[in-house]
Amino acid sequence: MTYRIRALKNGECNVRDYITFHDGGEQTSLFYLYVWLIEDGPAPMLVETGVSDVEGFNRGVEAYIPGGVRQRPEERTLALLASAGVAPEQVSHVFITHFHGDHYDSFGLFPNAAMVASRLGFPGLEALAGDVAEALRRRGGDALMLVEDGEVLPGIHAFHLGVHSPCSIGLAVHTKAGVAVLPGDLIYKYENLETPRPPGWTDVNEWWKALEKIRTMGDFVLPAHDPEVLSRWPGGVIG
Ligand SMILES: [Zn+2]
Repeated sequence: MTYRIRALKNGECNVRDYITFHDGGEQTSLFYLYVWLIEDGPAPMLVETGVSDVEGFNRGVEAYIPGGVRQRPEERTLALLASAGVAPEQVSHVFITHFHGDHYDSFGLFPNAAMVASRLGFPGLEALAGDVAEALRRRGGDALMLVEDGEVLPGIHAFHLGVHSPCSIGLAVHTKAGVAVLPGDLIYKYENLETPRPPGWTDVNEWWKALEKIRTMGDFVLPAHDPEVLSRWPGGVIG
C-alpha cells in the first residue's frame, strides 16, 4: 500500500530560537502548523488534527511565541479538509505524534476516526483536553488505538521516540516518493535534521539517539513546523 500525503497549513507563528535550537537565542523564526492528510487508502486519514482554539492556545505562550499563532479562516482544520474534498465523517484514523495542543486538540471534529497514539508514555485520558477525553470515553473501545513499534496499518509504521514528550512517536508512511518519516516535534525544522542542530528544551544525548532512528526509518523526513516543506514539496503534495 502506498499513500499520498498532503501538507495542509493550519496557521503560523514566530518561535524563539532557544526553543527551536539548543544553542538558539532570543530571535525568532517562522513556524507553520500543519495537518497532514493521508490519501489513497480506503479512507482519508490524518497525522495531527491542527489547533482548535487559537485564543486558548495563545494564552501563556507569549514569552516564547511572541504574538502567538495566527490562523486565517481558510486555515482552520475543517476548512482545510473541505478544500481537499474531505468531510470529517470520512476520516478513519487520526495519528497523534504527541499530546501537545497544536497536535491533537481538534480530535473531537472527527466522529468516526480512531485516535492512534503511543501506548508507551500515554498520559491518560484525564491529562487530555476535556472535550477530547469526553469524545474518547463516549465512543469507547475502538476509538483509541494505543500502539507499539511496528506496522499499524498497511504501509504505516509507528516507532516510539520520546525525548520531546514521553509519548512522542514517529510515523513512517509509504508513498510513491519513498518512505516519508513524520517525526513530530523532535524535528521542527530541516535545520534540526540537516545541520544537524538539536532542538531546545530537550535532552540532547537522547535526541541524537532518536535522530538515528528517524533517519533509518525512511527515505526522507517531513519536519513538523518548517515552512520549507511547501517549497520542497510544491503544493504540499508528497508522493
Ligand atoms: Zn510539541
